[in-house]
Amino acid sequence: MRRKIITGNWKMNGTIAGTEALIKELLAGDFNPERTMVVVCPPFTSLYVAAKLLETSPIALGAQDMSQHQSGAYTGEVATDMLLTVGVSYVILGHSERRQYHAEDDRLVNAKAKAALSAGLTPIICVGETLEQREAGQTEQVVGQQVDGTLAGLSADLIAKSVLAYEPVWAIGTGKTATPEMAQAVHKFIRQEVAEADAAAAETLPILYGGSVKPGNARGLLIQPDIDGALVGGASLKAADFVAIINAV
Ligand code: PEP
Repeated sequence: MRRKIITGNWKMNGTIAGTEALIKELLAGDFNPERTMVVVCPPFTSLYVAAKLLETSPIALGAQDMSQHQSGAYTGEVATDMLLTVGVSYVILGHSERRQYHAEDDRLVNAKAKAALSAGLTPIICVGETLEQREAGQTEQVVGQQVDGTLAGLSADLIAKSVLAYEPVWAIGTGKTATPEMAQAVHKFIRQEVAEADAAAAETLPILYGGSVKPGNARGLLIQPDIDGALVGGASLKAADFVAIINAV
């Protein structure tokens, strides 16, 4: 059985003091870390402090993006080595906000995923359709292309070490969530798409759902057979809500 993963994407929120306060609240929360893998992804500037606070806790640390390059003249970028030295083990790649505001495409996300995996980081690769695409009946076509493009050239072994996140763009930060049935249908489709490359990797690959997950809707989503956890934005900024989502597993 795949262990559930609940990930908090804190986006561009919080200074070092804010990160410290939120982590302390989370650490005081009542949840069973054996049952669920919990990952938090603060902004880059807070990673070092977050790693220190999480050192003896089972909560893992993630970054929100990284460069596909290892070092050099790439102003503003952060390399895998830099993330590893501050204690990061997960990295979100291809989030729709990166795709939308920084023109990231599947090719770039694929290059980043390869760099992350060869450094020993676990990529959380995001895919998802826009409202226009869903209404035009293109969800499977769009998501299928994103899955194929972002996983291109990865061995079955490396696919099995990755995490995918299905995040319908229309549900991110909007308060609109896919119904559990809608989300399950796309998760099942994604798993079938991955199974075409390797059936065993598709079975072990965790596929998270993201898009306005809240304490009130988490359980309905998390009980679906192909939903292996959640990528949570807004609600992960409130420790009590995030803990309630973890406990919904
Ligand atoms: C996200 O940013 O990945 C996300 C799912 O955000 P929210 O939960 O706020 O919709």
